[in-house]
Amino acid sequence: MSADPELRPDPAADLARDDASLATQAPGHFEVLAEDPGSHARSGRLWTAHGPMDTPCFMPVGTYGAVKGMTAAELRRAGSQTILANAYHLGHRPGADAVQAWGGVHQLMKWSGPILTDSGGYQVFSLRNLQKITDAGVRYRTHFDGSKHVMTPRSVLEVQAKLGSDICMILDHCPPGDASPALLREAVQRSTLWAKEASDLRREILAPGQLCFGIVQGGTDFALRRHHLAELAELDFDGLALGGLSVGEPIPEMHATFDAIAHEMPRQKPRYVMGIGTPKDLLAAVRAGVDMFDCVMPTRHARNAQLFTFGGKLNIRKSRFREDPEPIDPECGCEACQSFSRRELRHLHVHNDPLYVRMATTHNIYFFHQWVAAMRGALRAGRFEAVAAKLAACLEAPKP
Ligand SMILES: [Zn+2]
Repeated sequence: MSADPELRPDPAADLARDDASLATQAPGHFEVLAEDPGSHARSGRLWTAHGPMDTPCFMPVGTYGAVKGMTAAELRRAGSQTILANAYHLGHRPGADAVQAWGGVHQLMKWSGPILTDSGGYQVFSLRNLQKITDAGVRYRTHFDGSKHVMTPRSVLEVQAKLGSDICMILDHCPPGDASPALLREAVQRSTLWAKEASDLRREILAPGQLCFGIVQGGTDFALRRHHLAELAELDFDGLALGGLSVGEPIPEMHATFDAIAHEMPRQKPRYVMGIGTPKDLLAAVRAGVDMFDCVMPTRHARNAQLFTFGGKLNIRKSRFREDPEPIDPECGCEACQSFSRRELRHLHVHNDPLYVRMATTHNIYFFHQWVAAMRGALRAGRFEAVAAKLAACLEAPKP
């Protein structure tokens, strides 16, 4: 059976690169190129100082400035257009001043396309016993060496200014998924305070062309989300994110939240859900009107022997792959599936060969980009409903 080209586009083929064939727009310019009449799904293009980002867009995560084991050329071939790095990690190791002195985060990552940096707020808020939160900011001890630091709306912008990322995230108060209603309200109130401060400071601190996104909190409480969204929509941000999802709440509640809120976010700005998700989450989020995603899932799962296919995940450690001559997915166009069989990859994995990690990561990233490219292509071709139904059917398929 040959692959369905609508489900299996080359994930790099339709991406706009910053070349002469496209008129370059000013950073922050966002165009909605197609909208699905039957849902809130849409496809657009955001311009940054390092070229365009086509949406829907999945961003692989390079926490310390590298998507573990992958070169920039490999990422591009796998369909990456925008990469995420983390200001908390880079701000401490090797340090924002060092990254700046070395030539900035694009030089560090050898990545000439757009880079988004998370502010580090999420990481600091997950250091439960190591932080103290006030309206001024967060005092914390790092998980690296226990040293004391303060993170404020100003400091996270200063770090990201030094890193030189294209899209900077503001500091927000990110409560855990099981937070009480009182804590959720407190987090929203504080996040608004910090968002106003960031909105006032961004033009002073960030370089011209560095974009700044606000983050909407409120857990799975729709009224609180709407209240916070209304406050943030007034401020000077180039895009808005939904934060505080995929933090332990039940999956149906997470989906219900972006179903209710995403399409109410400003239509003329990119919409980003932070930290999701599974292929099913991405399908649901695109349908709800979300443009951007990031998740460690493809890279982390690859290292843990979990490989994604259109028929479900497979665990390459299983003994039934010991003599399996098939590639991970016979219809996959990635470098790993073009070169290696399951039995060879299993062998490399069992013997902890770094080549396994590279090939497994290549495959999983390619899969995520292809999954999103199928939706992007369908939206631009006016075929979203049909292709979304085919993707949904893949999710129901029996495991390989
Ligand atoms: Zn593959």
